Amino acid sequence: MSADPRDLVDLSGLRQGSEAADSVPAAARPYLQVFFRCANHYQRVYRSADGTAYNARCPRCAKPVRFKVGEGGSDSRRFEINCGL
Ligand SMILES: [Zn+2]
Repeated sequence: MSADPRDLVDLSGLRQGSEAADSVPAAARPYLQVFFRCANHYQRVYRSADGTAYNARCPRCAKPVRFKVGEGGSDSRRFEINCGL
């Protein structure tokens, strides 16, 4: 094969494709709004680093709450937690 410069053009085309995938900023992580009744407080809960769950903790009684991420699960973004008062 020759060193046709057009081969380089093809490579840059591939780079443009990956640029589109990188256009979603890392800061745009999904989150839930969780209302803790016992604290009367809304908390924004970001998805865990591995993307499998949302881990929240009541700001008053420190009760841990875990929302699992799953296909076909609830698409609700707001939850209300009753810590059991
Ligand atoms: Zn609580």
